[in-house]
Amino acid sequence: MEVSPLDTIAAACACDHKPCICPTTTRVLQFVMSSPPGAYFTEEQRKWCLKEIGFFELHRAERYVGHDDTVLARGVMEAWRDYAREQGLL
Ligand SMILES: [Zn+2]
Repeated sequence: MEVSPLDTIAAACACDHKPCICPTTTRVLQFVMSSPPGAYFTEEQRKWCLKEIGFFELHRAERYVGHDDTVLARGVMEAWRDYAREQGLL
């Protein structure tokens, strides 16, 4: 997986895998979406998240504007999951 602006965040993963084999970006998203609501991302990181969601479904990214970072992180994970499902990868 390519490097994202999120990879600069040091995060403990919240997944069930032991040991965790998640790529760094996934680990950060898991960490943020399972954290208390609040601000975790920089402006650049938020933009990346919205772009990532919009890449799969443009109108969908608009729904996340103004939401806090835990909601945004979940949005990226859901966009990825839906995409993988559509491609028959899940
Ligand atoms: Zn993990």
